[in-house]
Amino acid sequence: MSLALKELVRVGSLLIVALFGGALSGSYGWSLLIVLSLWVLFQALEFRRWSRWSKHPLSRPDNVSALWRTPAERVYQSVHGNRQRARNVLAQIRRLQMATEALPDGAVLMTPGGVIETFNGAARRLLGLSGEDQGENLGMLIRHPDLAALINGELEEDIIEIAAPNEEGRRLEIRRIAVDADRILILARDVTQLNRLLTMRQDFIANVSHELRTPLTVIMGYLEATEDPSLDRATLRELLGKLASPAQRMRALVDDLLLLTRLESSPALDPDQIGEVDVPKLVQRIVADATQLSAGRHRINVDVDAQLRLRGVESELHSAFGNLVANAVRYSPEGGDIDVRWYHTDAGARFEVEDHGVGIQPEHLSRITERFYRIDLAGARVRGGTGLGLSIVKHVLKRHDSGLAVRSEFGRGSRFYCVFPPEFSLPVN
Ligand code: ADP
Repeated sequence: MSLALKELVRVGSLLIVALFGGALSGSYGWSLLIVLSLWVLFQALEFRRWSRWSKHPLSRPDNVSALWRTPAERVYQSVHGNRQRARNVLAQIRRLQMATEALPDGAVLMTPGGVIETFNGAARRLLGLSGEDQGENLGMLIRHPDLAALINGELEEDIIEIAAPNEEGRRLEIRRIAVDADRILILARDVTQLNRLLTMRQDFIANVSHELRTPLTVIMGYLEATEDPSLDRATLRELLGKLASPAQRMRALVDDLLLLTRLESSPALDPDQIGEVDVPKLVQRIVADATQLSAGRHRINVDVDAQLRLRGVESELHSAFGNLVANAVRYSPEGGDIDVRWYHTDAGARFEVEDHGVGIQPEHLSRITERFYRIDLAGARVRGGTGLGLSIVKHVLKRHDSGLAVRSEFGRGSRFYCVFPPEFSLPVN
C-alpha cells in the first residue's frame, strides 16, 4: 500500500471514530473537532521530530508515522551513502599520502611556474623544505641555474644532478615530470651512494687493468727478446723460463678475482659445501705452503688444539687462513718469527697469526681489507701479493659468522685473528 493511501485510510479511520464519537455524544461537530485537533497535534509533533532530525540527518529518523519517516529515511540513506563514499575516498587519499610519505625519493607537486603546492617527507629531508614553503617558489628557495631551467622546462632532458642544498657532499638527481597542463612534479633522488658505487667500479676496473698490465708487460718484453734470431737455445730456454713468474702472478690475480666475485655474489654459505673442517690438518698444509714461500727465511711456530674442528667450507677457510699466514711471511723481515695458533676460548674457536714484521700504521688499519688497498704500493708488489688477500679473508669470515680483527704496531709486527662462534666450533672429545 502506498504511503498516501495508508494516510488516507488513517484519516478515514479517524473520521469514523469522530462519527462514532458524535453519535454517542450527540455532537458531531465537537467530536470531529477533537479528533482533528488530536490528528493536527500528532502531525505537529512529527514535524518537530523531523525538523530536529533534519539538522543532523546522520542517524535514522525517529518519526513514528511512515508519512514522515519514509522520505526522511531516504534522505538519511543518501546522506549515509555519501558519507561512506567520502570516507572511502578519504581513506584512499590517506593511503596515497602514506605511500608518498614512505617514498625514499622527494616529490614536490607544483605549478609550471614553480610554486609549491605540496611535498612529501623525503623532499623535506633532501631539499630542505619545511611546512612554511608551501606556496613559495622552489626556484627561489633553492637557487641553482640548472634547477630553474629544469622547472621552466628549458632543458632538452628533464633531468639534472646537483649538490643537495643542505649538505654539500650529497648529490641529488632531480627529474621533472609534467602531470597535466597546470601541474608539474619534481622528483629528487639521492644518488650519492650510486655515484660512489660507479666510482668504485671504475677504480676496480682501473686497478685490475693496472695489476694485469705489469706482468703482461714483462711477458711481452721476454717474448720480444725471444724473436732475436741470433739467440742460442740455452738463452732462449732461460728467457722462456722467466715467463713463468709473471704468468703465475696473472693467474693468482685472476683466481683471487674469481674467488672474490663468487664470495661477494653469494653472502651466505652454500649448505651443500658446509662440512666438518679438520683445522689442525688444514693448518699443516698452509704452513707447508708458507714454508715454501718463506724459503727458510722465517721461523714458523705452530700451536694448535688438535681436537678443535670447525663447521664451514674447507676451500674458503683454506684461502682465508692461507692468506693471513702468507701475508705474515711477506711482511716479515728475514729471520722473523711467525706464530700460528688455533685454540679454544670462551667466545669460540680462535685462529691467530702473529708476526714480528713491518707492522701497520693505525691510519691504514681500517682500510687494509679494501680491494687493492696497499700501504706501500712499490714494496707490496715486490712482495708478490695481489692486493685482494684481506678482502677475501673478510668475506670468508663474514660468511662463517666471524670477522677479522687486527692488532698491529708499526715497525714491530701484527696479529691478525678471528673468533668463530661456538655453533661453528666443533670441539671433539
Ligand atoms: P697484498 O696482496 O698486498 O698482501 P692484502 O689484501 O693481503 O694484499 O693486504 C693488504 C695490505 O695490508 C698489504 O698490501 C699490506 O700493506 C698490509 N698487510 C697485510 N698483512 C700484513 C702484515 N701481516 N703485516 C703488515 N702489513 C700487512
